[in-house]
Amino acid sequence: MQDYYTQELSCETCGRPFVFRNYEKERLAKQGLAKSKHCPLCRKAAHDLRKEDTRRIENEIWQQKKAEDKKLFDIRLNEWKVVTKG
Ligand SMILES: [Zn+2]
Repeated sequence: MQDYYTQELSCETCGRPFVFRNYEKERLAKQGLAKSKHCPLCRKAAHDLRKEDTRRIENEIWQQKKAEDKKLFDIRLNEWKVVTKG
């Protein structure tokens, strides 16, 4: 039988104490972490923020692509104008 114990840690972000269970260690070890540095609330907030970040970056990439497409379109349009003028 495995020995389950809990440990009280304080969150690096908000300083709130939170309970860390040793069986979470295995999961964290897979992520290359020894123990949790943040309380579940901050972890969730960080996760949401990352999701938000991903969405923002995706949006930026899309905006950039749109701008490039427009530039390309303008170039083609100018070329076309030159051709029709000549
Ligand atoms: Zn926290």
